[in-house]
Amino acid sequence: MKKSTEDVFKDKDIRLTTMRILIYEYLETVTAALSLAEIEKYFHKADKVTIYRTLQTFLEKGLVHKILDENTTKYKLCAEICSQENHKDMHLHFYCKKCHETTCKDEIVFPENIDSRLQIDEIQILAKGICDKCLK
Ligand SMILES: [Zn+2]
Ligand SMILES: [Zn+2]
Ligand SMILES: [Zn+2]
Repeated sequence: MKKSTEDVFKDKDIRLTTMRILIYEYLETVTAALSLAEIEKYFHKADKVTIYRTLQTFLEKGLVHKILDENTTKYKLCAEICSQENHKDMHLHFYCKKCHETTCKDEIVFPENIDSRLQIDEIQILAKGICDKCLK
C-alpha cells in the first residue's frame, strides 16, 4: 500500500505545510527528475523562495536527491531508504539528449565499498543517450 504524504513526512521528520505537501505530491506524479525552473513554472503563483527552501528541506531530510545532468540541477524523490544526512542514491541516472529528460535507473546500483579506505557519500554517474520514448 502506498504511504500517505503525512506518513512519509512523519518518517522523515518533516513538518507538514501546504506548500511542502503540494511539491511532494507533484514530484510523486512525475517520472522524470525536475529542475527548479520547472517546479517554479508549475507553481507559478507560489513564492520562489518558499519553493527553493522546500527543496532544500527535502534534500536535507532524505526525501529528494539532486542530479546534475548536462547543465541543470534536477530533483527527484528518493527511495524510502534515504534518511537525514544519509542518502543512498547510488544508482545510475540517464539523460536523454533529445527530450532532455533525466530519469533514475534504480535497477543499476553502484557499490559504496569501492575502496575501504574511503567513505563514499554520493555517486554521480550519468549516462547520456536517447530514451525509449524518443527511440519509438
Ligand atoms: Zn536520497
Ligand atoms: Zn527522450
Ligand atoms: Zn536518482
